[in-house]
Amino acid sequence: MNYDANNIFAKILRGEIPCKKVYEDDYALAFHDINPQAPVHILVIPKGPYSNYEDFASSAESDELAGFQRALLKTIAAAGVSAGGYRLISNCGVNAHQEVPHYHVHILGGRDLGAMLGKAA
Ligand code: AMP
Repeated sequence: MNYDANNIFAKILRGEIPCKKVYEDDYALAFHDINPQAPVHILVIPKGPYSNYEDFASSAESDELAGFQRALLKTIAAAGVSAGGYRLISNCGVNAHQEVPHYHVHILGGRDLGAMLGKAA
């Protein structure tokens, strides 16, 4: 799967663009979404060059897969959303309106998030 090294999250990982960091370790970086859809809206991205979930799940090494899941867990804890509840979203491809072609998981919380999906247009 082709990976675009000029995507905005790759630039954040290289330190070329700033972010509001929430958590970082060897496997992942978590930062606040620039256009939050809820009081808590954090993005968690792996450090490796993976375009989307399928690319990550099929190509990443076992330590990367486990490390990313643990980083996601630590970010959820840091965000303080466990008690109230939260939603994890990973958009993949055209139908899901994926904007940035670097695998990421959205953590949304801090309010009642409503139904899982809006009505189709
Ligand atoms: P997706 O549609 O799942 O690809 O979501 C991409 C997300 O990245 C959107 O929610 C954007 O608001 C967010 N985003 C785009 N650029 C930045 C940035 N420089 N810093 C933080 N979040 C960003």
